[in-house]
Amino acid sequence: MVKELLRKLSDAHGASGSEGSIRDIIKAEVAGSVDEFLQDTMGNLIAVKRGDDFSIMLAAHMDEIGLMVQYIDEKGFMRVVPIGGWFGPVLYTQRVILHGKNGPVMGVLGAKPPHMMKEEERKKEIKIEDMFVDVGAASEDEVKNLGIEIGTPITIDREFAELAGNRVTGKALDNRVGVAMLIRTLQQMASPHTIYAVFTVQEEVGLKGAKVSAYSLNPDCAIATDVTIPGDHPGIEKKDASVEMGKGPVVSIVNASGRGLISNPAMVAWLRETAERKNIPCQVEVGTGGNTDATIIHLERGGIPSVPLSIAARYIHSPVEVVDIGDIESGVQLLVEALKTKPAL
Ligand SMILES: [Zn+2]
Repeated sequence: MVKELLRKLSDAHGASGSEGSIRDIIKAEVAGSVDEFLQDTMGNLIAVKRGDDFSIMLAAHMDEIGLMVQYIDEKGFMRVVPIGGWFGPVLYTQRVILHGKNGPVMGVLGAKPPHMMKEEERKKEIKIEDMFVDVGAASEDEVKNLGIEIGTPITIDREFAELAGNRVTGKALDNRVGVAMLIRTLQQMASPHTIYAVFTVQEEVGLKGAKVSAYSLNPDCAIATDVTIPGDHPGIEKKDASVEMGKGPVVSIVNASGRGLISNPAMVAWLRETAERKNIPCQVEVGTGGNTDATIIHLERGGIPSVPLSIAARYIHSPVEVVDIGDIESGVQLLVEALKTKPAL
């Protein structure tokens, strides 16, 4: 079941730059379904399925946003820097896991108690630099003995859980949802083409893994699987984000109002026509917010025709991201069907 695969991926830890454990899960899942694995110097995992001389790159970033130890004080409290786009109040009082060299260590993000805040302080948005990590240690030496040092990566401690209907919540659905979608696609597809499924690193810190892998592979076209923002809950309106959870995967016509990406029209048409032909629920968006790996892939070499295929996810970049499992299943179906054909480039 894709739900159980997603649980495994969401509960695993892989901040940008330390994606090893995610890579291991993927390899175990798709080993029997691909011809070979390649791994480049940055850590991108490329699962290759050989076919004819038309090549399609599928990209899903493995990394999640996290933190990193920047400084350890004499009492054992740690200053941290964000790795990826965090909003301070989201991190306030979260439990975290520090991935030290002796194994995982539990910690909390502490800050000044609200009782002690002055009136003006309470009104202000709390910043990451106002917080620190507390692992319960009493000294810098005690922290170091736990295997933690400057540069130790940190991720959020929050277990995947099932919600009502077919919805689930987890800490790293951005982008383990895209990873799960590619894993299932590789297991089910029967494409005549050469498929490079690239599980990319360091997307959340600047789309870096996708850039180098697109250059190396030089594919004929590319699809990036990721998450996107739905406008279906309080605090946001459909005029600002027109897609909804539970209504199928989302084909982006543009990302970041076109500054990020204007998708290749033939790639958009290919996915939309496949969805229509096979009666697969599917939505389109003109995105004003974030980017995906497609933003950098389409600018590699002489220009690689690219399109994002995303899953609507509520509350992204938080420990309580929410998605609908049905959207992922439709996304897999759409990719499997599309890959039997090719875009009219
Ligand atoms: Zn993402």
